[in-house]
Amino acid sequence: MNPQPNAQGRGQLVLVVEDEATLAETIELYLRHEGFRTERAADGERALELFRAARPDLVLLDLGLPKVDGMEVLRRIRASSDVPVVILTARTEEVDELLGLGMGADDYLVKPVSARKLLARVKVALRRSVPVEGAGPEVLRVGALEVDAYRVEVRYAGTPLELTPSEFKLVQHMARTPGRVIERAELYEAAIPDGDALERAVDIHVVNLRRKLREAGGDERLIRTVRGRGYVLEDRAA
Ligand code: CA
Repeated sequence: MNPQPNAQGRGQLVLVVEDEATLAETIELYLRHEGFRTERAADGERALELFRAARPDLVLLDLGLPKVDGMEVLRRIRASSDVPVVILTARTEEVDELLGLGMGADDYLVKPVSARKLLARVKVALRRSVPVEGAGPEVLRVGALEVDAYRVEVRYAGTPLELTPSEFKLVQHMARTPGRVIERAELYEAAIPDGDALERAVDIHVVNLRRKLREAGGDERLIRTVRGRGYVLEDRAA
């Protein structure tokens, strides 16, 4: 199969698993407008059927579902597939729970979510699913630092850092574009569950991240402060 690159979505298939019909329709509309194809499931059982039958390129998965709940759907998908899964949830606590379980979702969106943000995250998850030479799609490597999305673990020279879910998401986001200066607001958006804290919370997480890096024998200057802007994860061997 050789899909024609007609738009940004390039005909990639997104399985939308969402039991709120209006929301599901809206999401499908936006995705199709961007050139994606879509399938929709309104319960967990149907989601698994469609997943096997349609072989989607990405799954957008609501957690609160009839019949089989979203966590179970994710568990069963992960038993056989590395397909990118973006979780939709109504509660930030569910994100922490999932991260704690190391379930291997690629991203998390807390409702209500804007169409723009949803599309952006879908595209990022699809880009990241393209295998990188010498590295699994789920492990980002920056110098001695490894960000392992499967295990939800960050390692420095092989030593795992004990990170909170927010710290993990923060370093994961930075590791996607090493060397790039990232504004606090973007880090906030990427790492802190919606409506959870002030932008300042990012600073506190960075302080803790650096301490943990140091404790693992790493150089805390790997995460450099850019005054008045944000932070940058240095792209150098260390
Ligand atoms: Ca629901």
